[in-house]
Amino acid sequence: MRDDEVKKNIYKCSRCALCQGVCPVYDEVKNENSTARGKLMQIWGLKKGELKLNRKILQSLDLCLNCEKCRLNCPSGVDTTGVFNAEKKLSFTGKILTSDFVFNLKMSALRLFSFFKKTPVYNKSSDILYFEGCISKELKNKLVIHGVKLKNGNFKCCALPYLTKGRVDIYNEIAAFNESIIENARLVVFDCATCFSAVRNYPFKNPKNRSKLIFYTDIYKNFPLEAKKPAVVSYHMPCHMNSAGKKLTEVEEILKEIKNIKYKRLENPEYCCGFGGDFFIRHPKIALSLSFKKARDIIETNPDIVLTSCPTCLWSLRFSLFVYKIMHGLAKTPAAMDMAEFLNKHCMPYKSTDNLKNDPQNNCKDCTQKELVKM
Ligand code: SF4
Ligand code: SF4
Repeated sequence: MRDDEVKKNIYKCSRCALCQGVCPVYDEVKNENSTARGKLMQIWGLKKGELKLNRKILQSLDLCLNCEKCRLNCPSGVDTTGVFNAEKKLSFTGKILTSDFVFNLKMSALRLFSFFKKTPVYNKSSDILYFEGCISKELKNKLVIHGVKLKNGNFKCCALPYLTKGRVDIYNEIAAFNESIIENARLVVFDCATCFSAVRNYPFKNPKNRSKLIFYTDIYKNFPLEAKKPAVVSYHMPCHMNSAGKKLTEVEEILKEIKNIKYKRLENPEYCCGFGGDFFIRHPKIALSLSFKKARDIIETNPDIVLTSCPTCLWSLRFSLFVYKIMHGLAKTPAAMDMAEFLNKHCMPYKSTDNLKNDPQNNCKDCTQKELVKM
């Protein structure tokens, strides 16, 4: 975002404070400086020369999960997170710490968790590409969708970690690289809400490329699935599902349609899990408090399994449920699982998916599913 666009966005803010009511960080720290309005006013003060950049301002600008709830709920249409990302000014050391090299180093540390796992094999001839996020790549998780042949697109990182750290230079480079792969694909399938949201927001050179991006849940709409064992499931909605334009009800419809499954909605299914990229490393106290709120909600709802669609959310759920269990001496807590993995491993189609093509009940609007499923 250019400087004039930053200013235009700050002008648009009517200071209504609606962003305060949706900000998970404000919910914890109860400090106006942590809200989008507070951050925008500090940036404005800096731009006008009325404020001088100091440690306190830097700290409050850093107090952000990048959950995008303020942007999505702003009645004046202020691109809050766009302004925050544009205004991250990095020192020389900051530039080194946010470099490609350091990011790859951090990511490779994850390999320790999957040292003995085999690298997944994908179909080499398909023109439907899988966007494998950095965490999935390091943890070697394979995306399998019933009846769909996927080829690994060998994309780079979605680039959101660079954008949110103010490295627009690296972000633009990666976005251009990834777009060159999307250009030659028929469709690109995502299983991580954050990657999906980030890539959808790329400044595409060819805007048609955006319409090739789908989330795996699009394929499972009205899909005839049956769980291998009866189970009660709940769903934690990652914040970036909303910023990617997905609604909770879309996911719920899929889960409610599965035979043998009872869906139970959490009290606050869209409340942030608190981990947000590396926020939990930078602000562990706030992150843990938010993730324990989520764990409490899950335990009170008491499903057998809680599902989600983002690897960072999944970590947060597993970690907080584990710690909650120890702290409260519980015999058992619900299992947390990636929803794509659950649909693949614990469910199966109960009729041939060939029939989907002619099934009058299958009212898949964009026909993505009908085109893709070849069983
Ligand atoms: S919701 Fe939007 S307009 Fe209202 S204070 Fe927050 S940023 Fe400003
Ligand atoms: S992106 Fe989320 S955490 Fe950051 S200011 Fe907006 S609502 Fe708060």
